[in-house]
Amino acid sequence: MTLLDGKIASQAIKEQLKTATQAIISNGKRPPHLAAILVGNDGASETYVASKVKNCEETGFLSTLIRLPADVTESDLLEKISHLNSDSGVDGILVQLPLPRHIRESVIIQAINPDKDVDGFHPISAGKLVQGLPTFIPATPYGILLMLEHFQLSTKGKHAVVIGRSNIVGRPMSILLSSNIPFGNCTVTLCHSHTPDLAAITRQADILVAALGKPEFVTADMIKPGAIVIDVGITRVADPSAKKGFRIKGDVAFQEVAPLCEAITPVPGGVGLMTIAGLLKNTLQAYQNHTS
Ligand code: NAD
Repeated sequence: MTLLDGKIASQAIKEQLKTATQAIISNGKRPPHLAAILVGNDGASETYVASKVKNCEETGFLSTLIRLPADVTESDLLEKISHLNSDSGVDGILVQLPLPRHIRESVIIQAINPDKDVDGFHPISAGKLVQGLPTFIPATPYGILLMLEHFQLSTKGKHAVVIGRSNIVGRPMSILLSSNIPFGNCTVTLCHSHTPDLAAITRQADILVAALGKPEFVTADMIKPGAIVIDVGITRVADPSAKKGFRIKGDVAFQEVAPLCEAITPVPGGVGLMTIAGLLKNTLQAYQNHTS
């Protein structure tokens, strides 16, 4: 069994990005710049944004974190995005999700200039992805492709099963794995909460991507021996014995599933780190698109 260690794979990508950034700086130009907007102070969102900013700094990128209160109005948030859209010193914009209920996520996502949409959530980015046109791939599916590439796991002709059909993970993942691209060319089954007899389908998976947000949902009886298992899930589960009072759990029951697999990602330390690598690569791409 190969452990698909996100630390190793993401570090390798960050080294490449660092080298590219050093070359930019030594040519007298400013480095790529990511602006992140955080609304409110949800604990998990704080952690994700802090990690994105820290990784930008480690790579030599510029980063700006804009904090807005949880009761910020939709129009004030739109105004902030509009400023960033027209700021030529900003290459990538991300708005950390989820947003408070009074703000419509789809309106916010559509307000981001598609040229700066480094999260790849804008409908224009999603449409281009479907048609196989160059675009920003949503960071988590992009990170998974980078993980497959780093460990040189062959996907061509395999049956991939994706659990979860969200716009940010499951659906784009299913499209990418079925596309005629490196680390694609799978036959894909996309499962969701209305899929009957899910285990009968997952047992046919050469590659299983679990992105449903239910801790340890995928158990050993759902796995085809020799499968590649990609665990996207991140759920905080209360644990009074843990220092922070919770533990992070994936969607896969790792202990019982891992011995059956050809390869598997851990949680934490797997897809989460690759997501950041995908985001940074998109930010460099946005910089290159707009400075070339
Ligand atoms: P979501 O809630 O938007 O979507 C969940 C999907 O799972 C839905 O399409 C639903 O139909 C499906 N689903 C729910 N219960 C199911 C069941 N019993 N059987 C089959 N399908 C079922 O979630 P999301 O935003 O796609 O995130 C999924 C998980 O991935 C969450 O734990 C989230 O925290 C995590 N996540 C991790 C990263 C990362 O970087 N590792 C990034 C994004 C999301």
